[in-house]
Amino acid sequence: MDYFPLFIDLKNKDCLVVGAGEVAARKIELLMKAKANIRVVAPEISTYITELSQTYPQLTLIKKKFTVDDIAQPRLIIAATSRIEVNTLVAQTANQHNIPVNVVDNLPLCSFIVPSIIDRSPIVAAISSGGTSPVLVRLLRTKLETLISPTFGRIAQLAEKYRPLVKTHINPASQRRIFWEKVLNGSIAEQFYAGKEAEAETDLKKAILNSNNQNDLKGEVYLVGAGPGDPDLLTFRALRLMQQADVVVYDRLVSKEILELVRRDAEKIYVGKQKSNHSVPQESINELLARLAQSGKRVVRLKGGDPFIFGRGGEEIETLAEYNINFQVVPGITAASGCATYAGIPLTHRDHAQSCNFVTGHLKDNSINLNWQQLAAPNQTLVIYMGLTGLELICQSLIKFGASPDLPIALIQQGTTQAQRVITGTLSTMHTQIQNQEIQPPTLIIIGTVVSLRNALQWFQPTPNPNE
Ligand code: SAH
Repeated sequence: MDYFPLFIDLKNKDCLVVGAGEVAARKIELLMKAKANIRVVAPEISTYITELSQTYPQLTLIKKKFTVDDIAQPRLIIAATSRIEVNTLVAQTANQHNIPVNVVDNLPLCSFIVPSIIDRSPIVAAISSGGTSPVLVRLLRTKLETLISPTFGRIAQLAEKYRPLVKTHINPASQRRIFWEKVLNGSIAEQFYAGKEAEAETDLKKAILNSNNQNDLKGEVYLVGAGPGDPDLLTFRALRLMQQADVVVYDRLVSKEILELVRRDAEKIYVGKQKSNHSVPQESINELLARLAQSGKRVVRLKGGDPFIFGRGGEEIETLAEYNINFQVVPGITAASGCATYAGIPLTHRDHAQSCNFVTGHLKDNSINLNWQQLAAPNQTLVIYMGLTGLELICQSLIKFGASPDLPIALIQQGTTQAQRVITGTLSTMHTQIQNQEIQPPTLIIIGTVVSLRNALQWFQPTPNPNE
């Protein structure tokens, strides 16, 4: 992050604007919205700004050339003249006095920048590209403008009005949040958006006073598939639930970028699973989820890929069902589809594979219990989860049961992330190929002639972070 975003209270605070043309006028109007005391210094003052000063008594116009003595001690300074030497002088003087300064359209001279805003006061959204692409910011702003209803601000005012009543009637704070989410996401908000503000308010009051209905206050568990790593591959539903959670229980496969999307003040509990090192035994994860939900929390159990594919998701919700705890399951993109797609390997193809098997290559007592006869047959793709340790055994077994030693195989490490690495070879070469290489988990194995299509179809170019 190159600039730290913050919202600053300028109500009745002194602000200095140097310049009084069209550009300055836009900034003055913005400062007027924030109810600042505005001093404008400029040798020429536009008629428009003069008119503004007649409607806004806190706007003082000083008709003179800027000199360093004009700085005084404002909260912030905006330089909006068309003369670079004046703007530079303002910026230098501001910096000497440690006063934040913005020079319009001159990023190097700015100590702060002004974001593009969507104003639904008291809700304000600010967007910035750190000065890199104002056009992109404008496009994004247009999108958000259409998403955020103009009524949004007024509904925030309604919420503010009823906050004290909610506080006395609904406790603890976690229940209040659930209550507000129901109100702001549900029929009351819908009524408000539809213009029936009085009815919405009556319903809100009723809802607050009848909020003791215990059924509403039960915790829930959301078993959410987080996908293979790239946060863009999350579903909307996953994201929404992640942003509503009181607690997030996650394991090793969930990427750092995805965890950053969880509601900021949600409690995060790591129950990392690593091969042969289950930091928290499965039984206690099941019990933990049940206990958290029983205490009224909304729990997101965040799992890599899809919770129902080699994710033990079934076991976790079985326990919840036994305890009669409400749950939802959100599918995620499983490693097989994520990694295959990002490696440019179609899992099925008319000329290559008419079926695709997902199997676990997990070694137990140094053997893998799979139907090799079936897996070695041609015209299919084999995807192996958790197969790195057993790789040599897998390749040998397939060859033994009739697969060609030249059958293509791909190893995809940390698929879909910027650290993705793909190694291709054949059943007979792969083991030696990776012997001197450091392969980072998680790794997925794809076997079949579809792997050869990668040469033509690969599209994803990861850009590894040099700091990692
Ligand atoms: N539920 C998960 C799978 C959990 S099993 C899913 O649907 O994807 C763990 C195995 O998944 C790992 O050993 C690895 O084989 C595979 N895996 C998960 N994410 C991966 C990724 N980003 N890149 C490569 N393999 C991955």
